[in-house]
Amino acid sequence: MDFSRLELSEQDQAFLGELRAFLGAQVTDEVIRRDRETGENFDEGVHLALGAAGYLAADWTAEADGGFTAVQRRIWELEIGRAHTPWFHWGTTALVATFVARFASEELREEVLPGVLSGEIRLCLGYTEPEGGSDVATCKTKAVRDDDGSAWTVNGAKMFTSNAHNSRYVFLLTNTDPGGPKHRNLTLFLVPLATAGIEIQGIRTVDGDRTNIVYYSDVRVDDRCRIGEVNGGWTVMRAALQAEHGVAEVDSAGLQRLATMTEQALLTAEALDAVAAVAAAPDAGGRRRIEDASVAYRLGRSAARLEAALSTPGMFGRVAIAATMREIAPDMMDVLGAAAALPVETEGAAADGAAEYVFRLAGPTGIYGGTLEVFRNMIAQQVLGLPRPVYSPPR
Ligand SMILES: Cc1cc2nc3c(=O)[nH]c(=O)nc-3n(C[C@H](O)[C@H](O)[C@H](O)COP(=O)(O)OP(=O)(O)OC[C@H]3O[C@@H](n4cnc5c(N)ncnc54)[C@H](O)[C@@H]3O)c2cc1C
Repeated sequence: MDFSRLELSEQDQAFLGELRAFLGAQVTDEVIRRDRETGENFDEGVHLALGAAGYLAADWTAEADGGFTAVQRRIWELEIGRAHTPWFHWGTTALVATFVARFASEELREEVLPGVLSGEIRLCLGYTEPEGGSDVATCKTKAVRDDDGSAWTVNGAKMFTSNAHNSRYVFLLTNTDPGGPKHRNLTLFLVPLATAGIEIQGIRTVDGDRTNIVYYSDVRVDDRCRIGEVNGGWTVMRAALQAEHGVAEVDSAGLQRLATMTEQALLTAEALDAVAAVAAAPDAGGRRRIEDASVAYRLGRSAARLEAALSTPGMFGRVAIAATMREIAPDMMDVLGAAAALPVETEGAAADGAAEYVFRLAGPTGIYGGTLEVFRNMIAQQVLGLPRPVYSPPR
């Protein structure tokens, strides 16, 4: 690991200045307040502005094809997080767009990709079902093909289709051979969400996020919306899951791509700074909490753990970030005392509710995009070469 400081070139310094000014103008207090109220993690005005300024295209495009350089990408990822930009869902749109580019027909690519890069078209992921998400191959949402092969009828339900209500298409995993072998009976479609028979219902999670349950009742889907082969969805899924899990995110130039969920870690770092400031300030009796050795120890340990998590790339970083958030959020709450339980913008809230929010955010951060347990198994099997876990009791 190389911890040396990177000197920014004049060009990179200019890029940083422009980006900061842009985000400062777009991500206003009003945008942040609205995002907190709605839990959408999305703001159409900001998203379209990012598209119009070319940032979405530069982020999605590989460096060799004119996208961000490795240093620009690092600046971009850090600044977008620091500005509290409501845009977690760009990751999903960018991921699905990658698979459209790779597996969809030319006609569908042309229909979708320019709008993705301009910000007008958003894409969401429809894998998880009400009965389970980790084992996506147990998919029960059925797609039945017409006799002439030109269209399909879809029936089923998908849980946690985040940002569906702001998206034009869903990347939908269906079962096209219910009696067939697992992993060889799945087909993916890019389904227009305006199609008759689709109903989107909002759900709020414990951290205030808005996600959705989406019902599909006799939804007619043209065969040209199919992504990949019939019953070949697992091949597409494997590539998609690997990218979502950060396996494919390594760049050259000595700078590894930051782990997914780095934005959540940056919010945690801000909260920890706010908690440390409260602990260092004298109370009405002139006493400083930090003078209590256990407080100093817990804050110091939290800062060190967070720094280590932020410096860990790929899927290891994904696990380190979520696990660290879950472990240090209770420490932050304890250091602040009872007033830590009050949320942001509430009178009397300690550190303006920063720790309270991170406490609620830490749980879901270890679930969406794959749970911590599932990631740990992937690291064990794919990186350490360990065998598949056996969950049955020993004989
Ligand atoms: C806020 C939020 C947003 C989301 N957004 C989307 C989205 O946009 N699109 C989408 O398709 N999904 C989305 N998800 C779903 C997410 O991917 C799933 O919640 C996740 O994959 C876990 O599935 P599950 O909740 O059904 O839990 P289950 O799979 O039922 O797991 C339950 C428990 O069993 C454990 N477990 C399961 N399998 C194993 C195993 N093999 N080994 C060890 N432990 C295991 C899990 O770790 C967990 O603790 C979202 C979820 C949340 C909370």
